[in-house]
Amino acid sequence: MKKAGIIRCLQTEDMCSGTTDFVCARDGKGAFAETGPVEVVGFVTCGGCPGKRAVPRARMMIERGAEIVVLSSCMSKGNPIQYPCPHFQAIREAVEKALAGKAVLIDWTH
Ligand code: SF4
Repeated sequence: MKKAGIIRCLQTEDMCSGTTDFVCARDGKGAFAETGPVEVVGFVTCGGCPGKRAVPRARMMIERGAEIVVLSSCMSKGNPIQYPCPHFQAIREAVEKALAGKAVLIDWTH
């Protein structure tokens, strides 16, 4: 079973427990259909707008064993408050560059 670290939107943290992310990770559903069930080794936020903590937190989770870094659907799709992150592309590009081949990037969860 691969290990994954999930980064989520700070703005949705107080109204979403992230339960569906954990269910999808456990069951290999949604974005995890391509990886199979994964062990979640970290579940952190971007740190707040404009998401500058996403890169150091992605690195931190890799140091703690993450082979996959996931940007949750609250960021890419705006689940569940219909507010996609306006900084998503910049965050995605910065995180992907920081991974430097040490982990795979997935940019949604469900
Ligand atoms: S930068 Fe994007 S993901 Fe992070 S808190 Fe702001 S809107 Fe949410």
